[in-house]
Amino acid sequence: MTANKSKTVCILPWIHMYANADGNVLPCCIGDYKTPLGNTGNTPIKEIWNNSEYKKLRLQMLNNEQPSVCRQCWKHEEVGNESSRIHMNTKFAKFMPIVNETNDDGSLDEMKLRYMDIRWSNICNFKCRTCSATYSSSWAQEDGKDNIFIFAGGKNNDSLYEQFKEHYKDIEFFYFAGGEKPRLRTGFDELPASRSTSKRRVGVLPARSSSSGSTCRTWGNACHFFAGVKDQLVSSGPTSSSPARDCDWSSWIVSMRCIRE
Ligand code: SF4
Repeated sequence: MTANKSKTVCILPWIHMYANADGNVLPCCIGDYKTPLGNTGNTPIKEIWNNSEYKKLRLQMLNNEQPSVCRQCWKHEEVGNESSRIHMNTKFAKFMPIVNETNDDGSLDEMKLRYMDIRWSNICNFKCRTCSATYSSSWAQEDGKDNIFIFAGGKNNDSLYEQFKEHYKDIEFFYFAGGEKPRLRTGFDELPASRSTSKRRVGVLPARSSSSGSTCRTWGNACHFFAGVKDQLVSSGPTSSSPARDCDWSSWIVSMRCIRE
């Protein structure tokens, strides 16, 4: 199938997978969380990639329809803003020909991820005011949840890490959100193949962690593996603890110095 003149195609359902810390898969991080496409905690990612929800999503886009799970983008486009869809289509324009490889039922013969954003777990030492228990164990604890720690892979992430491993060689853009050390360390330890490729890989990390040695090593690994690593903090400077409750700015500065060295 080809995109022809469809004005609703977004490249992401062809090259990207996003999963929340509770395992719910969305077409991207701004997809409607009420209508997930599957769950990585109970279904293999390759199965999700060609399940009825994913196939329907691709076909809708190819047929100039506006899938409801992408409502955020349609809202932006309605009022003339640049939507995430337009931004992503520009950013990943070179991969657009893959859309023509869509089978008549919306499936793809190959799962070739180019961009990955998996929130491996909710383990986090912050309680940002914009966050919730799904993404922060600190919030889950404060909310009195039975399961404080949750994992995208179900009881743990062992199987999920294995499933994604074979895709790392193709992925050009990694987004690692959250600051929990074991998660990041495991993610980067699984990336030895990236060192030997000439492809540019970009990782985006939020600066949430404290200044422990293992955190520094984790970040140091990140800088080593990726051609470009951007770090983000919801705010910067001593006022960072205002949106990011429990953020210790002085520890963050120590961490950054450690990484630079
Ligand atoms: S159309 Fe928008 S919401 Fe849907 S996958 Fe693309 S960027 Fe995400």
